[in-house]
Amino acid sequence: MIIKPRIRGFVCITAHPEGCAQHVRDQIAVVRKNGPIKDGPKKVLVLGASTGYGLSTRIVSAFGAGADTLGVFFERPASNGKPASAGWYNSVAFEEEAKKEGLYAKSINGDAFSDDLKQQAIETIKQDLGQVDLVIYSLAAPRRTDPVTGETYRSTLKPIGKPFTANNLDTDKKQIQPVSIEPATEEEISGTVKVMGGEDWERWMTQLEAAGVLAEGCTTIAYDYIGPEVTWPVYHEGTIGAAKQHLRDTAARLDANLKVNRGRAFISVNKAVVTQASSAIPVVPLYISILFKVMKEKGLHEDTIEQIDRLFRTQAYNDAALDFDDEGRVRMDDWEMRDDIQAAVREVWPQVKTETIDELTDFAGYQENFLRLFGFGLEGVDYEADVDPEREFPA
Ligand code: NAD
Repeated sequence: MIIKPRIRGFVCITAHPEGCAQHVRDQIAVVRKNGPIKDGPKKVLVLGASTGYGLSTRIVSAFGAGADTLGVFFERPASNGKPASAGWYNSVAFEEEAKKEGLYAKSINGDAFSDDLKQQAIETIKQDLGQVDLVIYSLAAPRRTDPVTGETYRSTLKPIGKPFTANNLDTDKKQIQPVSIEPATEEEISGTVKVMGGEDWERWMTQLEAAGVLAEGCTTIAYDYIGPEVTWPVYHEGTIGAAKQHLRDTAARLDANLKVNRGRAFISVNKAVVTQASSAIPVVPLYISILFKVMKEKGLHEDTIEQIDRLFRTQAYNDAALDFDDEGRVRMDDWEMRDDIQAAVREVWPQVKTETIDELTDFAGYQENFLRLFGFGLEGVDYEADVDPEREFPA
């Protein structure tokens, strides 16, 4: 079949298998160009390994550090002639490339929040890897069923305490329109903390530890975002911010626990990038479009792969030492948050109108980036060619 992008609001409901494979190969090339990472992780479990920051972490682990990787994600295979989700194609392509390199790579597709899946992962680690020395927590999900109570919680993206009104970029219609969001209820706040906070991360670490599959000196990292004040009401100080605070508190507890065995847990605050998760956040696409223009002009633009490559090389491994901020977090958003970058964003922000989107922002870059997430717009891919949407994981 010929697969074209079909965009519905802030998601693309189709994905291109060849394009996704090319996107994975392009990311591998970025890491390879920078050479091997010294003393990197050897056996890595990535939770949320199929797209965004998790996929890039899997790629840096494998192709920078030569690690064996077990990836966990929730993706949809092709069915009834409908293409699979991008994360499915990415993961198939990742495994193919890893195997060519002689690296172990297996994936488990299912609900990472469930205890069943945790047990499956533990069994796979015991059988194939023995132990893991790095666990990445990079899940971004709209809902989570608590395995203890069976209750399902939903995450929302809302302000806390008072309504929030700001300019928003409708990425579908290419229009600037004010958006107003009512404050979250107590239930919405606690639901978001349940889904995107640290409870499940801790559950993973507790079960992995109890099963004896964490190596001595094991590291675990979860990803966080802070961003500029203009997005704080809906992010840093909103429902998701409350969940991230819980994640930070969890990191401190996990760190104390892992230290006993010379391990460590920490949070890496990453920069704003276009991912399936971030494109759903109100106001953020406008901010990212402005930010991209400013950072590209200053030669500081990074995507997920450059961010994680830099995290591994300058902070977590490669003879580097972790450089924590006052609250014990690693700041990979250091370039994004630089005073000159943020001053430039603040200056442009109030001036952007529908008519000036192209002139004042890098919306074109935002859109290219968005389409690439689904395997569209990649160089070297023939989008007019007939492709088989069915892709199986290598044996
Ligand atoms: P993403 O949407 O690209 O990836 C989410 C991953 O979670 C996918 O692999 C998906 O399959 C997996 N997943 C979702 N529900 C699952 C479930 N129930 N079981 C198993 N897997 C499941 O998201 P992302 O933007 O890369 O976000 C990852 C982390 O990075 C989040 O903590 C996010 O807050 C953080 N972060 C994102 C940005 C950004 O700008 N996108 C910036 C800084 C930090």
